[in-house]
Amino acid sequence: MTERTTRIAAGATSRLCRLLLAGLICLLLADTAVAAYRSRYINRLIYNSVEDLHEFNDNLTLTRQLSAMANRKSPATIEEEVLAKLDIVIEKVEVVLDMFPNNLAITVRILADRAAVSGVYRQKYNRKVDYVAYYSLSENTIYFSAYDTSIRVVAHEIAHAIVDHFFEVRPPYNMHELMAQFAEKHVTD
Ligand SMILES: [Zn+2]
Repeated sequence: MTERTTRIAAGATSRLCRLLLAGLICLLLADTAVAAYRSRYINRLIYNSVEDLHEFNDNLTLTRQLSAMANRKSPATIEEEVLAKLDIVIEKVEVVLDMFPNNLAITVRILADRAAVSGVYRQKYNRKVDYVAYYSLSENTIYFSAYDTSIRVVAHEIAHAIVDHFFEVRPPYNMHELMAQFAEKHVTD
C-alpha cells in the first residue's frame, strides 16, 4: 500500500514536472516571438492586429531614395518590412537633425486609429486629446495610429525620441517641438 502510494505520488510529480516544463518552453517561445520584432534602433514592435500593421505599412510611404534603402534589407515579413522602413526613417531624421545618439532603443506601438491613441493617452494622463501619434518620454515608446500614419508623422515622433536620447539635459518643451517639426519638414528632402 505504501509502495503503491509512493508510485502514484511519483507519477503525479512527474506529470507536474512535464506541465511546468511545457509552461517554461511556452514562455521561452513567447519571449523569442517578441524578441524577433526588433531592429537596430527599435527594441520592440508591438501591435494588436496584423491588419493594423498592414495599414501602418501601406500609409508609411517613403521617398524613392529611402524606399530603395529599405528594400536593400530584403524584408521577408510584414514585421521586417515595417522595421526596415522605420530604421531608414530614423537614420534620415538623425541626418536632418545632425544628432546621432548611440543608445537608441525605442518601443513602437501600432494602434488602429486616433481614437485608440487618444484613449491610451487619456488613460495614462487623464487628459482628453485628439492625437494621431505621441512619444512618451517616460516609457520611451511611440504610439501610432495606423490609419493616420505618414512619413511626416513618423519623422516627427522619431525626432522626439532622438532629441530625448541625444541631450543629457532635456531641452525645454518648445525646443523639443521645434526640432520635431524641423525633422517632419525635412525628412522628405
Ligand atoms: Zn511633437
